[in-house]
Amino acid sequence: MTQHYDCIIIGGGHNGLVCASYLARGGKRVLVLERQGVVGGAAVTDEIAPGYFVSTASYLVSLLLPEVERDLELKRHGYRVLARNPSSFTPLPDGRHLLMGPDEALNHEQIAKFSACDAEAYPRYEAWLTRVAECIEPLLAEPPADLLPLPADWRPRSLMQRLRELGRGGRLYKALRAMGLELPQSAELITGAARPILDRWFESDALKATLATDAVIGTHAPISAPGTGYVLLHHVMGTAGGARGVWGYVEGGMGALTQAMARSATESGVEIRLNAEVAEILVEGGKASGVRLAGGETIGARMVASNATARITFEQLLSGATLPQSFREAVSRIDYSSASMKINLAVSELPDFNCLPGKGEVGPQHRGTIHISPTMEYLERAYDDAKYGHPSREPVLELTIPTSVDRTLAPEGHHIVQMFVQYAPYQLAPEIEGGWDAIGNAFAERCIDAATLYAPNFRASVLHRQVLTPLDLERRFRLTGGNIFQGAMPLHQLFSFRPVPGWSDYRTPVAGLYICGAAAHPGGGVSGAPGWNCAREMLRDG
Ligand SMILES: Cc1cc2nc3c(=O)[nH]c(=O)nc-3n(C[C@H](O)[C@H](O)[C@H](O)COP(=O)(O)OP(=O)(O)OC[C@H]3O[C@@H](n4cnc5c(N)ncnc54)[C@H](O)[C@@H]3O)c2cc1C
Repeated sequence: MTQHYDCIIIGGGHNGLVCASYLARGGKRVLVLERQGVVGGAAVTDEIAPGYFVSTASYLVSLLLPEVERDLELKRHGYRVLARNPSSFTPLPDGRHLLMGPDEALNHEQIAKFSACDAEAYPRYEAWLTRVAECIEPLLAEPPADLLPLPADWRPRSLMQRLRELGRGGRLYKALRAMGLELPQSAELITGAARPILDRWFESDALKATLATDAVIGTHAPISAPGTGYVLLHHVMGTAGGARGVWGYVEGGMGALTQAMARSATESGVEIRLNAEVAEILVEGGKASGVRLAGGETIGARMVASNATARITFEQLLSGATLPQSFREAVSRIDYSSASMKINLAVSELPDFNCLPGKGEVGPQHRGTIHISPTMEYLERAYDDAKYGHPSREPVLELTIPTSVDRTLAPEGHHIVQMFVQYAPYQLAPEIEGGWDAIGNAFAERCIDAATLYAPNFRASVLHRQVLTPLDLERRFRLTGGNIFQGAMPLHQLFSFRPVPGWSDYRTPVAGLYICGAAAHPGGGVSGAPGWNCAREMLRDG
């Protein structure tokens, strides 16, 4: 073995970096091994053409825990959030539009154009989501309460671990009790489908469709499927964007956040090695003892944490016999279905929307997320295609133009447009020959056309493009199945069920091996929570 560390982190995604920083601050000698030439995982900035910078995958911040931002001194290391106001714009084919954001008066005026009742109801709806989010959020910053009565041969636990579980169980009970009389309807939000909830609250299709896109981002499910309620809630969590649920841009793109994290980690003593792919986790006497790199080098450590997906960690990096059969079966059952794609564009001018013209100067229609999903039926139909393995004929698009507030990303007068696309099913119908490599560009054209229907100058303004199909997301970021959250987020894969039931406290059946990324509780999103929680458990174990 070339060297020996206290802790090795496999993967320098933002969670790997957060985990490493806390371990180093806890006095550990830490090495991060990242297979790519840059840290950040799915939170990176790419230069797609000289002078044009995009947030390659993730593009907005809200969930980042304030504790992580504070402890890692991210502001001092160059992290800056640019707030968005308005934060949402929905152009409609009939020439109307809906703008929304942190400004209550604007929301009221805009929603009232469609329904006076909805304008009255919206602040109550938001207040309810806020109350639920405030009950749930503290549960995200610690391992989940694992009260599953699983037998010891599935997961042996010490008395201390059981006592800690009871403590967390108490906090879960308290969080649910705090929901009071709202618990029944809040339970539906946490476990049920987004559509019936929105249908009960509102009558305006434009408002419902705008809100409903948040419920299907990153999922391979229609707005009417159970589990989409939680994804809706997930998107109103966090305040890192400047206000609750108002997601913000990171100046310099998402890579600027992970570069700040890397600087903070390095300052705390963490060593980071790039282009260092781990091929195997070494195990001696049932305990993790280090890693072997793809080039053959072995490096020793007392503890190893993996920022890779559970599938990669347990099926590729560990040799088969190391894990109990029941655990391996549980890992093989994890749902990685996905239907998301990212298209990043450099454009010569701003989109000039039919319903709210203007391309010379940044207007309110350019600052927030632009929703190309005018009705609930449009959203449902978009999924119908994906259900049978076809990309949506009329895709659901979320466009963001970070250059509307961040002039560091493109030359003067030019802009960046990032398109997050649903539904682009990873698993295509068998009759689609050549798979995503064959159809990716044609589908990107369809997405550009869909946006051009609302802003006629859009297609002609495109100068450069970066197309990331679900297969590209898997290849480039090692996101199993292209799933943007390192595993889908329905209730049976959340809290004490994530990554598999009984192993939600970041530990694994191999002593000294931990999971520190989005594969673990509380799942996907740029939150730093899995990394922080995992580091605390590792420090507890010594
Ligand atoms: C297209 C897209 C859009 C998204 N949009 C948003 C958004 O706007 N806001 C938001 O909050 N979240 C968003 N997300 C989700 C969010 O980006 C992820 O959940 C989050 O980045 C996960 O971070 P992580 O550190 O846990 O893992 P990852 O970012 O997946 O990092 C894992 C790291 O491990 C490395 N690795 C894997 N295997 C090995 C190995 N064998 N050896 C060495 N290194 C290895 C990988 O290269 C990678 O760097 C988006 C994700 C995608 C893909």
